[in-house]
Amino acid sequence: MSGSEGTFDAVVVGAGPNGLAAAVTLARAGVSVAVLEAAESIGGGTRVAELTLPGFVHDVCSGAHPMGIVSPFFRELALEKHGLEWIRPAASLAHPFDDRPAAILWHSLERTCGELGRDGARYERLIAPLLRDPHGLLADLLGPLRVPEHPSSFVRFGVRALWPATWLARLAFRDEPARALFAGCAAHSILPLTQPLTASFGLIFSLTAHVGGWPVARGGSIAITRALGSVLESLGGTVHTNHRVRSAADLPPARLFLFDTDPLQLAEIAGPALPDGYVRRLRRFRFGPGVFKLDLALDGPIPWSDPRCLEASTVHVGGSMAEIAASERAMWRGEHAERPFLIVVQQSAFDPGRAPAGRHTGYAYCHVPHGSTVDMTNRIEAQIERFAPGFRDRILARHTLGPADLERRNPNDVGGAITGGAADLTQLFTRPLVRLDPYSTPNPRVWLCSASTPPGGGVHGMCGYHAASRALRRLGSAARAPLV
Ligand SMILES: Cc1cc2nc3c(=O)[nH]c(=O)nc-3n(C[C@H](O)[C@H](O)[C@H](O)COP(=O)(O)OP(=O)(O)OC[C@H]3O[C@@H](n4cnc5c(N)ncnc54)[C@H](O)[C@@H]3O)c2cc1C
Repeated sequence: MSGSEGTFDAVVVGAGPNGLAAAVTLARAGVSVAVLEAAESIGGGTRVAELTLPGFVHDVCSGAHPMGIVSPFFRELALEKHGLEWIRPAASLAHPFDDRPAAILWHSLERTCGELGRDGARYERLIAPLLRDPHGLLADLLGPLRVPEHPSSFVRFGVRALWPATWLARLAFRDEPARALFAGCAAHSILPLTQPLTASFGLIFSLTAHVGGWPVARGGSIAITRALGSVLESLGGTVHTNHRVRSAADLPPARLFLFDTDPLQLAEIAGPALPDGYVRRLRRFRFGPGVFKLDLALDGPIPWSDPRCLEASTVHVGGSMAEIAASERAMWRGEHAERPFLIVVQQSAFDPGRAPAGRHTGYAYCHVPHGSTVDMTNRIEAQIERFAPGFRDRILARHTLGPADLERRNPNDVGGAITGGAADLTQLFTRPLVRLDPYSTPNPRVWLCSASTPPGGGVHGMCGYHAASRALRRLGSAARAPLV
């Protein structure tokens, strides 16, 4: 950073999707901004690497992007003009069963309903009303709790969203396929499915399947943050990699400081500039469970018993709703499910450049207790083999990432938590803690902009966008100075 030190209005710590979204928001308003990134490259939870064998390009973290393609901020930036190409398979999600054909969330609502038997009409009644103005609804949902701009869609969503996912699934549907499909979507909450508000995840993930789909990014998820980086560069912003910020002394003077970090790092770095009581509350933030991830080099596609599973970017492997609920209950209790619920993404089926000709990448993870050290490789492979006999014979090489590995790669992933912290009733909208403006801190120069603020985890940049939009309002009253 030498040479330009001291010349910024705003400094952003962390070049993940939210840090970059915050920096772009500031730069668009004419603010000079520098982003300081600990790793050797930008990207945070969107990095790619040849984790298994040469030529196999794996998404290290995010794989499919239901929220990325519908993100109001990403849409406004037209990231496609900066090199991002979304690949949208015909199906967002496939959900295989032991004894019947897979249930599938096609991009087409009609086709999805047509295959759900007597639950088809019920699924349509649940989702179709949310599709009347999906982008308006998503703009209200992907932000802090506030008076909605689209109240009728919001209320329509809200009355169902408050329920536990298993309750809503039982009430709304009669048969296992639709119930399990909904439960798998809700399991993205990383909460027991009997908790209130878990239905909201089921609804949002189902809804997005019929709006933008659950796309993969051509070349890897890094294409999303590279596009953001390109927008930032075009606006004059700068990124400084290999710059880990450990204390306020590592920050150049600025008027605003935005942290794309977890709340513990915010407490550690900005603590001397914040009241003790606020810092103590930040340190009580709950991160929730972690994940265990398995990446594979495969000598062919996964041989699903129902080959239609190959038409979806994502496959939820977990069987019935009861089994999925049991898996998610176990990780919440500090146990490891014998048959874990898996999120499998099939990037190379749609983006052939991810693997050598005829070969494929494999991507699967399950939820595990916070900080777990248990190797889940065998259990993950057994679950896939259950629905895809012969799968294990296709494995050429494996790479595993447990909670400690994830945290080593990215200090934000505390205990392997991948979505910025537990998104339960007490922390979904009030993250990192209860405050009228959750992005602000008692110091008007210090802001949190990571997934530990609303709307939480996922590659959508909306935490960064909202934090920076609010911070901008305080810019006028802040003088350029060291943080402490
Ligand atoms: C295994 C896994 C699978 C996932 N799957 C999906 C998925 O399929 N779809 C989806 O949408 N999301 C997925 N996610 C979640 C998604 O990646 C995150 O929610 C998202 O990246 C959060 O963005 P962020 O900018 O808040 O933080 P991050 O992406 O974590 O970025 C933070 C950046 O800040 C840097 N940093 C942290 N501390 C410091 C410091 N002190 N000094 C300097 N730099 C610092 C980090 O190195 C990092 O680059 C997944 C995550 C993981 C780990």
